Amino acid sequence: MHPQEFQRAVLDWYQHQGRTNLPWQNPITPYRVWISEIMLQQTQVSTVIPYFERFMNSFPTIESLAEAHIDEVLHHWTGLGYYARARNLHKTAQIVAFEMNQQFPDTVEALAALPGIGRSTAGAIRSIGFRKPAAILDGNVKRVLARFAAIDGWPGKTAVHNQLWDIAERYNPEQHTQEYTQAMMDLGALVCSKKTPQCDACPIATGCKAFAEGRQSLYPGKKPKKALPVRETLFLLLRNARGDILLQKNPPTGLWGGLWVLPQIQQPSELDVTCESLGLRVKSKAPMQKQRHTFSHFHLDYQPLMVEVEECCNNINENTHLVWYNREKPLSLGMPAPIKALLTI
Ligand code: SF4
Repeated sequence: MHPQEFQRAVLDWYQHQGRTNLPWQNPITPYRVWISEIMLQQTQVSTVIPYFERFMNSFPTIESLAEAHIDEVLHHWTGLGYYARARNLHKTAQIVAFEMNQQFPDTVEALAALPGIGRSTAGAIRSIGFRKPAAILDGNVKRVLARFAAIDGWPGKTAVHNQLWDIAERYNPEQHTQEYTQAMMDLGALVCSKKTPQCDACPIATGCKAFAEGRQSLYPGKKPKKALPVRETLFLLLRNARGDILLQKNPPTGLWGGLWVLPQIQQPSELDVTCESLGLRVKSKAPMQKQRHTFSHFHLDYQPLMVEVEECCNNINENTHLVWYNREKPLSLGMPAPIKALLTI
């Protein structure tokens, strides 16, 4: 299929079948495209919509995001996971607002130099937000192109990834970039779906190699399976006489960086020493149901421990990285979903 024929087919399809009512499409601005693209990484549209709407209510402009406290930004991200995305959003907002006169750059190179913006996100901001030509290669587009051109192998491998980028660039149009980029995302989400591609309704079926071979399910190639390692920890729900639970803030980088979490220990025998270091004395303790949270690279098996404590000194109120969390009057803090869930028990 010639690129022009491909583009025409995709654009025609988009006119009748594409999505035009997503919250970030009304109105379309580089800022809103950027926020939606970052939220949509590894996350479904239906999950993202309420997060996006709340985020825009609180941070309607790049200046408002740049000026917000990081805790407030992470609070809006609670439950979306991959929190480095939120920390990078905040950093990029500060660079664009304070060093770039509140104007996003419009080249792929300059966009991709900002924290948290990769080549595909840069392409989406340029093509949708600025209506200028740039290819994208998000998860949906990878799947469409891998099937269309029958590209073997897992797209996580550099050679496969580069091949897919070559195709994305070759088929990308010079005009109607906003519609074309959105159309390719929609085609992957609505027609060329992971499990049940609707090839009969697909505008590029006549040129699709996977369809011709009846081998749609083989593309894109799967990630080689590797058993995830398991790590174990105990989460301490340290509860004072008022019923408040102690939270501590993680360092800004690393796992759950910058988020408020429960104190952890590796062995039950560490409980007394940990409490003493916080100026607390253990009155009683009760283990709760063990649970598992899976990260991209390991499983975390955690045992929550409810511990009634007595405050022996004022260590906690003087420490900016510790807070007594009142569950009746919750503060706007960024928290990982498993911690938030434990606080509702
Ligand atoms: S023909 Fe089928 S497999 Fe090929 S791109 Fe269209 S939906 Fe996907």
